[in-house]
Parts: sequence; C-alpha cells; structure tokens
Amino acid sequence: MNIERIGTLVILALIWMTFPIILVGKEDGYANAVVQSLFLFYWSYMGHVYAHNISLEYPLNIINTHVSLHHSEVKNVPRWFELMIEAGSNFMGFYVLHIAQSITGIKLFNLKLILYAAFLYIGVHIFYYSLTDNKYHKVHHETSFKNFSPEIFDIIFNTRKNNVNYDKISMINEIIPALISYYLVVYIFKFSK
Ligand SMILES: [Zn+2]
Ligand SMILES: [Zn+2]
Repeated sequence: MNIERIGTLVILALIWMTFPIILVGKEDGYANAVVQSLFLFYWSYMGHVYAHNISLEYPLNIINTHVSLHHSEVKNVPRWFELMIEAGSNFMGFYVLHIAQSITGIKLFNLKLILYAAFLYIGVHIFYYSLTDNKYHKVHHETSFKNFSPEIFDIIFNTRKNNVNYDKISMINEIIPALISYYLVVYIFKFSK
C-alpha cells in the first residue's frame, strides 16, 4: 500500500466532506455536519457490505438486484437498464434513512446530506466505476467481498485487495460527482421551497 495513494485518498475524503459542511454547516453546526457526513460515508461502505452479506442465501440473492443483476455475469436486460436499476437501489439505500427518520420522528441526518451522499454514491459507482471500467472496482466484481469502496474504508476494515497495478485514482472522476451532487441538492432545495 503506497503512502502516496493513501495521501490522495485522505485529500479526496476531505474534499468530499467540504460539500456537506457548506450545505448544512450553518444550519446544523459545523462539527455536526462533519459527524453526519462521516457517518454517511461509513453507511455507503457498510450498506454495501451488508447488501452482499444478507444476499448469500435465497431469496435475498434474487430480490437484491445489486447482487442478482449488477453483480451477475449474465445480464438479461440491457446494460443501461441494469445501471438504472442499480442507481435506484443505491438511492433507496440512503433514502431509507429519511423514511426511518420520518416514521420514528428521530432526526439525526439532514435530508440534504442524505441526498448528497446518495447522489455521490451513484455518481462514483455508475459513472466512474461502471462506465470507465475502473480496475479497483473490477476486483469487487470478481471477488464480491473485497474492494467495496470508498477505498479508504476498505483500508480501515481490511477489505482491500492489494494490487500494485490499480489505475491511479482519478481525482476528476471522484470530485465531479461530488460537485454535481452538491449542486443537485442546492437546486432541489431551492425549488422545493
Ligand atoms: Zn459495480
Ligand atoms: Zn457490490
């Protein structure tokens, strides 16, 4: 594991977290914004791990489209359709937090950040990982219990499969989805008022 790559991942994490701070820092407090976004990034990792774990057995291996469709070798639907379904299930993976908060009345996360995290996950997974054939993510498709990403969490939780030949992290491909997610949230809240 080279130190330069870890440095890049840390810088990236800081950039990813800057947008949540701008989005809700004033509203919820800056420290709170940091804690919320850290948890939501952890959630994107954990949710992915959990999605694979619960789908080891029937019927969840069929019902969970992330496993039965996105990870399946043979796609019985067009790729664009499969990726749309994947984006939808990614979105729901975050939106359940909002649903749970509405039902219980316990509000821990700002909806703005739930949406930001959902869009960011979709952006990185669909546009960067799936459409550019990213090597790091390819390993996840060959060995489902490795390289869940974000990569920094794979390092922390020891699910990273080491390989010196991974493509260099493309900052552009990682930052643009964050930027788009940020603006999407800003516009959604602007027009829903
Ligand atoms: Zn994938
Ligand atoms: Zn997966």
